[in-house]
Amino acid sequence: MNNKELFEKSLKYVPGGVHSPVRSFKGLHTTPRFVNRGKGAFIWDEEGKDYIDFCMSFGPLIHGHQDPEIKEAIIKALDNGWTFGACEKYSLELAEYIVNKISFIEQIRFVNSGTEAVMTAIRLARGVTGRSKIIKFNGCYHGHTDSMLIKAGSGLAGEAEASSKGVTKHQAEDTLICELGDLNEVKEVFERFPTNIAAIFIEPLPANNGLLVQSQEFLQGLRDLCTKYGAMLVFDEVISGFRIGFGGMSEKTGIHPDIVTYGKIIGGGMPVGAIAGKKQVMEFLAPIGPVYQAGTLSGNPVAMAAGLVNLKKLTPEAYVKLENNTKNVVALMKDWMDKNGFEDYQTIQYGSLFYPISNHNKLTKIGDLPANMNERFKKLFEIMLNKGIYLAPNAYEVGFGSLAHDEKVQEEMKRRLWT
Ligand SMILES: *Cc1c(COP(=O)(O)O)cnc(C)c1O
Repeated sequence: MNNKELFEKSLKYVPGGVHSPVRSFKGLHTTPRFVNRGKGAFIWDEEGKDYIDFCMSFGPLIHGHQDPEIKEAIIKALDNGWTFGACEKYSLELAEYIVNKISFIEQIRFVNSGTEAVMTAIRLARGVTGRSKIIKFNGCYHGHTDSMLIKAGSGLAGEAEASSKGVTKHQAEDTLICELGDLNEVKEVFERFPTNIAAIFIEPLPANNGLLVQSQEFLQGLRDLCTKYGAMLVFDEVISGFRIGFGGMSEKTGIHPDIVTYGKIIGGGMPVGAIAGKKQVMEFLAPIGPVYQAGTLSGNPVAMAAGLVNLKKLTPEAYVKLENNTKNVVALMKDWMDKNGFEDYQTIQYGSLFYPISNHNKLTKIGDLPANMNERFKKLFEIMLNKGIYLAPNAYEVGFGSLAHDEKVQEEMKRRLWT
């Protein structure tokens, strides 16, 4: 069956034909590609067409598809069984490795996704502080847990409403929404609720609605406000963790959160998430603390083995190469766009993340994105797809560079762009 027939069949058995909405190519004039295989920087669809992949499973595959050492670790772990629901050494090794390498964390707990990590972080922050409200920023994505599916309301600063059906008014009331980059608004919200705010949640490098790089001053301001009012600062590093250097934005900026959440890269492409922080905070979790959290498949040995090799391969030299690869592919793309009717685009790059966007503004908040971006993206995406270059299928998604996008792939990309 071709891609179109497969998608039509999927629509019969699965809501919208997909298991995660962004995969549906909604608003694009083409059918989702059914991926049959990936290797290095390439994926192949069911029709045998290959693409240079800049989605990379939305981030986890920092070494590319089917990295041989990660594959070997997975196979080796499989040989001993794939889940025990008991203590094992795989998760201990990964915990030890991460805690010893990241200065501000003392303990870590593994879960199965980024969403689950954030959900646990919310409960933990509330449990530690005995408070109920949390602050979230317009344009940051923190997974699909109820209290994060909230958008700005029309009333006072901070007031919000649910952005999804099925989220109760009560849940929406406990989440306060602020604009990225606006420290005064956050101050105002703390002044209104000085003893009610359990935590600020932020992607320290917001990368889910374009790439909205924040200033050091803004992030430091959030740290200071949390310290002043006794709230927890939570950095959601599900994308930026292990990508912007090993210690993510927390180490890069030197601004240390009380709780950090990880996902994506941490499992090397297997389903893993984590929450981490100081022992004093983390020990609020069950079984010794009063904040309940559990997971049948948490710390899955196969996933832990994949994660460990994945992270061990992220040496300082690897980060230099990763950034260089990304710089080069972005330059190739920008050059092609400038000469082929996409002069209105800029390409924002931060580390190994990039974002082609159809304006030349400095982007720091969601309102800085252009109104016609979906129309422009649709055109760009389809041209790239036909050329065998696979961007994430949505105007708001960033592009992911990887260690597999090396000189050889860059040459091939140049060839594809210009033919
Ligand atoms: C992807 C993402 C999540 C959700 O992770 P899932 O594994 O998809 O549940 C949460 N926060 C951020 C910043 C993310 O990018």
